[in-house]
Amino acid sequence: MKPSSLEHCLKLLLLLALGGVTMHVPDADILSSLGALRLDGHFSFHDASAMARDFGNRCNLLPAAVLHPGSVSDIAATLRHVFSLGERSPLTVAARGHGHSLMGQSQAAGGIVVRMESLRGSDRLQVVHAGMSPFVDAPGGELWINVLRETLKHGLAPKSWTDYLHLTVGGTLSNAGVSGQAFRHGPQVSNVNQLEIVTGRGDVVTCSPEENSDLFYAALGGLGQFGIITRARIALEPAPKMVRWIRVLYSDFASFTEDQEMLIMAENTFDYIEGFVIINRTGILNNWRTSFKPQDPVQASRFQSDGKVLYCLELTKNFNTDEADIMEQEVTALLSRLRYIRSTLFHTDVTYLEFLDRVHTSEVLLMLVLTEVLIYRAIHIQKQHNIQRCLLASNSYMLFFKFVE
Ligand SMILES: Cc1cc2nc3c(=O)[nH]c(=O)nc-3n(C[C@H](O)[C@H](O)[C@H](O)COP(=O)(O)OP(=O)(O)OC[C@H]3O[C@@H](n4cnc5c(N)ncnc54)[C@H](O)[C@@H]3O)c2cc1C
Repeated sequence: MKPSSLEHCLKLLLLLALGGVTMHVPDADILSSLGALRLDGHFSFHDASAMARDFGNRCNLLPAAVLHPGSVSDIAATLRHVFSLGERSPLTVAARGHGHSLMGQSQAAGGIVVRMESLRGSDRLQVVHAGMSPFVDAPGGELWINVLRETLKHGLAPKSWTDYLHLTVGGTLSNAGVSGQAFRHGPQVSNVNQLEIVTGRGDVVTCSPEENSDLFYAALGGLGQFGIITRARIALEPAPKMVRWIRVLYSDFASFTEDQEMLIMAENTFDYIEGFVIINRTGILNNWRTSFKPQDPVQASRFQSDGKVLYCLELTKNFNTDEADIMEQEVTALLSRLRYIRSTLFHTDVTYLEFLDRVHTSEVLLMLVLTEVLIYRAIHIQKQHNIQRCLLASNSYMLFFKFVE
């Protein structure tokens, strides 16, 4: 049944109330006062719809203005100005990294979105070899994949990661940043030596565990509520060249979790440990098995999952090519202590970059498959109907590409 427009409005009001969202539209004077700020970058007032969306695609909160900062001073000047408008000002401010949060966290209804990616670029990344404690100074709007590429040029890399690297430094540090290295190094927020933050008053403050520590610990995991992270000093370690990437399957949940806990507690263990559930109805198992080598191809080909839920333990051991033999021995010893289904041991050797960027590689593959499906659909429509609808369908996949970018 189609709801009446009154019902629709009531639902919208209820949703806004439940979500704690108040939509204020700033008056023209406030907007023109933003336009009058002297900046290295600029404000845009008319192309804000892209900043009203995020990866979740569930919230759509249109900002009044988007700041494309040309410098940290631009962010400071803007926040100083907003602060000077006083408490009655309707303007809220949200930093936006890569917009990959799910529920509108990087949106500002009727406010200002600060597009942090305007301040990224390899010339802004500075790797410092400080003896035993190397680090990189990275802009808050830089993508982790670019931090990795830049630090690898120096044979170094950050220690703790997210599974997906096409997220910004400020975006994940405002959450936690968790992946399979966290059992050893802690989440990404535990691997930061120092931050530069623009506070709500528009001050640019350097903070660390020793200096302005309250601000430092509040901003890390602070969901963007304690200031805007414009630079993060991230601890580095020597980067391995290669990774032995292993997957094994369990059908028994208790053995799966006990083995994970045992590995995490062990002193000499894997470098990355993660587990995931395979619902095993979507063909995902067969998809990844093709890019991994089974340890025992004959037994592996006989393995029947019968559509049962499976648990996958994903492990890696880092190595340099001249240490391959030692790596093999260590991996064999560790695996012998586990209780996985013996025929389901799969592995592959990839570069460190390939392993860390694995989710993006799958994303690109998925996009190609979807594109193929859409092209097929477009051709089918063309055959069935007329050229106009075909163009519509091909436009929809171009839009899809734009969205996934
Ligand atoms: C496909 C995918 C895979 C993911 N994988 C992982 C994973 O493996 N591990 C994990 O921990 N998380 C993961 N996440 C979650 C992800 O870490 C968060 O959603 C993160 O916030 C996204 O970063 P972003 O740059 O897109 O930030 P945005 O979505 O743009 O912003 C997120 C929040 O941080 C604030 N923010 C952004 N930049 C700054 C800044 N410079 N200063 C202050 N505040 C700022 C925003 O205001 C907002 O509140 C994943 C998300 C997706 C979509």
